[in-house]
Amino acid sequence: MLEKRIIAILQDIVGKEYVSTEQADRICYSYDATQQQFNPDVVVRPADAEQISLILKMANAEKIPVYPRGAASGFTGGSVPIKGGIALVLTRLNRILRIDQDNLIAEVEPGVITATLQKAVEEVGLFYPPDPASLKFSTLGGNVAECAGGPRCVKYGVTKDYVLGMEVVTPQGDIIRTGGETMKGVVGYDLTKLMVGCEGTLGVITKIILKLIPKPEAKKTMLVMFDSIDGAAQAVSSIIRGKIIPTTLEFMDATALACVRQNADLDIPDAARAVLIIEVDGERELLERQAARIMDIASPLGVVHTRVAVSDEESEQIWQVRRSVSPSLRKVNPDKYNEDICVPRSKLPDMIRAIEAISKRLEIPIVNFGHAGDGNIHVNIMVNRAIEGHEEKAETAIRDIFAKTLELGGTMSGEHGVGTSKAPYIPMELDVATIAYMKAIKRALDPNNILNPGKIFLEDQ
Ligand SMILES: Cc1cc2nc3c(=O)[nH]c(=O)nc-3n(C[C@H](O)[C@H](O)[C@H](O)COP(=O)(O)OP(=O)(O)OC[C@H]3O[C@@H](n4cnc5c(N)ncnc54)[C@H](O)[C@@H]3O)c2cc1C
Repeated sequence: MLEKRIIAILQDIVGKEYVSTEQADRICYSYDATQQQFNPDVVVRPADAEQISLILKMANAEKIPVYPRGAASGFTGGSVPIKGGIALVLTRLNRILRIDQDNLIAEVEPGVITATLQKAVEEVGLFYPPDPASLKFSTLGGNVAECAGGPRCVKYGVTKDYVLGMEVVTPQGDIIRTGGETMKGVVGYDLTKLMVGCEGTLGVITKIILKLIPKPEAKKTMLVMFDSIDGAAQAVSSIIRGKIIPTTLEFMDATALACVRQNADLDIPDAARAVLIIEVDGERELLERQAARIMDIASPLGVVHTRVAVSDEESEQIWQVRRSVSPSLRKVNPDKYNEDICVPRSKLPDMIRAIEAISKRLEIPIVNFGHAGDGNIHVNIMVNRAIEGHEEKAETAIRDIFAKTLELGGTMSGEHGVGTSKAPYIPMELDVATIAYMKAIKRALDPNNILNPGKIFLEDQ
């Protein structure tokens, strides 16, 4: 528990109503989508960078852990206050400060919900592509701190490709600016890139300058169903090999389909063992040609049914099915370990086959879906911790899946980050010298280790 004088300082900085030590509030801010739970000592909801600066100055002097937090939709425990201290909730910083149509940029505060910005820019004919499936509730600050991806990233790239600059409060409480508003800029180190994906361990993001692009004129969404998981995986690598980059190439296996089938008004035939949601966008007259080429490639690989959305509503209906997969998985088993491995796209069929073999060998369901066009698969190891041996099997499955991913030239995480969940495994991917280099950066910028301590690196690594 923090001393009363610390609570009083926090109340002075942000106002009494924005500081809580109530048990109920501490529980509400104790977990993320991993369902790990660690209560903070205090929940603090600042309004701006100046208040955050004062909080960090005090926390640094007193050596109190601070855990930045957006919507807490993270899948790796990034915002979970594992050492207590301050849950720094950033959702009051939720203004879109400007949309500059001359320079195609937006300046936002970190608590803006991803979908809110997307809607606002689309209203003026612009487009912010990164679209994590959590976009209706995740914050842009969380997206930047995790370098979130999403279905459209096959064609448009991930969050880091859209961040031009930031305002950041350092662990010592200084307010700094990285990058800027220009499309180019090489003065000094690229601190913007350093901050993107740093999982809230190096600074608190208080403003973000984002690049926008013109909104594509039209799109075409297709739900393509295959009679085998292998056929769908082959279709992904064949489409890419055919030098076509659709906007999305999303994949769902048979178990993922079964989880959403009863909620989905989509007429999914029983023969469908896997589906791809393929979307193309751009100039209207090019779409038909692109879609036809994709179907020419996919059809010989076991397509059993195709549904093409004829309106935006139907397209949204298909996407809603995809977004509901993750929350429906607990129908399979109550506990899930959610990994988001990424392999070179040509290696996708090999990876899918390997995961199926691991699932069979260990006799536990593993549900696969995700951004196949990026080679990025959400691998959900579904267990029931109440059953003896399930947890150990999950641990074995994770290690085996990571080992195969790395053998195929991939990475353990395409977009969810390391947090606490993947920290024990990073020595499988990064060598000793690389980890030491990264830890030296953290030590230099946050010598008292107050900002999001216990994340990314285990203390004894
Ligand atoms: C159903 C579901 C679907 C999802 N789909 C996707 C997907 O398709 N793609 C994808 O990439 N992710 C996905 N995610 C994961 C998650 O939504 C993303 O990681 C998202 O970017 C987290 O945003 P958040 O606001 O919830 O951040 P939080 O979970 O609150 O925090 C995430 C990390 O960011 C840090 N952080 C937050 N705000 C700041 C800030 N202002 N300054 C510094 N650090 C900060 C936190 O300390 C933490 O380390 C999904 C999650 C769910 C539950």
